Amino acid sequence: MTVREIRLLGDPVLRTVADPVTTFDKELRRLVADLTDTMHEAEGVGLAAPQLGVSLRVFTFDVDGEVGHLVNPVLGPFSEEMMDGEEGCLSLPGIAFELKRPDRVLAVGQNVHGDPVAIEGSGLMSRCVQHETDHLDGVLFIDRLDRITKKAAMKAIREAEWAGQAAPVVKASPHPLFGRAR
Ligand code: ZN
Repeated sequence: MTVREIRLLGDPVLRTVADPVTTFDKELRRLVADLTDTMHEAEGVGLAAPQLGVSLRVFTFDVDGEVGHLVNPVLGPFSEEMMDGEEGCLSLPGIAFELKRPDRVLAVGQNVHGDPVAIEGSGLMSRCVQHETDHLDGVLFIDRLDRITKKAAMKAIREAEWAGQAAPVVKASPHPLFGRAR
C-alpha cells in the first residue's frame, strides 16, 4: 500500500492540462493502485493523477463502495437536469461549497489494461466523474462557482490553515487573490 502526498491548491501541476495515457504498463497499474490507496486513506470519493503530481489523464473513484478508475476519460452527453449538492476537493482541504452539476453523464475511456469502458453516472457518481475529469484539464471546482459563492470560497481559502504553502493560481480573476488580509 502506497499513500502519496496530495498536492494542494497552488501547486502548478493542478493547473496543467494532463497528457493522455499511451502506455498501459506496470507503471500505470502502480499509479492506479497509489491513487486508490491515497484516495481511501484520505476518505475521498475520487482522486485524479495530477493531485499526486502526475500529469496523466487518470482518476480513481469510490462512490458508495463502487471502486474503479478511468483512463483517458471523455464526458458526454450530459443531462439537462441539474443537481444541487455540496462539493469539495482533497486539494482544498476543508473547503466545500454548493455547486450545480448535470445530474447524469456518460463517461467513456479505458481501463488500466487499455480496454474500452463506459461509466453511466448519476448523482454522486456523475459529480465525481465531472470533478475528476476537470482535474485532468487543470480545472478546479472553485472555478465553476458563481461569482458570489466564489468570493466566499476565496475567503475560506485565504483563511485555511494550508493557505500560502505554494503561490496559488486561481483562474478567471485578474487580481491577486492571496494578498494580505485586510
Ligand atoms: Zn478534486
